[in-house]
Amino acid sequence: MQCPFCDAGDTRVVDSRPADAGRSVRRRRECIDCLQRFTTYERMEHVPVVRKRDGSLVPFESAKVRGGIEKALADRRVPAGSVEALLRSVEAAAAAAIPEISSDEIGRLVLEGLRHIDQVAYLRFASVYKEFEGAVDFEREMAALEDDA
Ligand SMILES: [Zn+2]
Repeated sequence: MQCPFCDAGDTRVVDSRPADAGRSVRRRRECIDCLQRFTTYERMEHVPVVRKRDGSLVPFESAKVRGGIEKALADRRVPAGSVEALLRSVEAAAAAAIPEISSDEIGRLVLEGLRHIDQVAYLRFASVYKEFEGAVDFEREMAALEDDA
């Protein structure tokens, strides 16, 4: 670590302790040349984590979300960039969710996004995500769409 005072290339750690409830390490460093001291923090890079319905935790995988979106949109003509835009918004939500995002929440975000992109894709995705049990649910969704229109 370079010294911020004299730009010397070498400093030594004089103290190291956990900070931020153990989520980071605070280090006091001293410059070998000018002996000035300064502080650095070491933090874990945030990895988006997904809580599945069975309670297990898995890393967020953008490719899986994209797969779900594209499957719902199969054979549908949609504006260029709309899949990317939806994917970016889901990725941003996952990255901002601390400590984790649920798979249900991801599904809800995709569903909400598809609703604005293509209503057939929305219904296809809803039939998987919401695990429709019968025509009653489906009709209720259709009615909700018509109310929105
Ligand atoms: Zn220095």
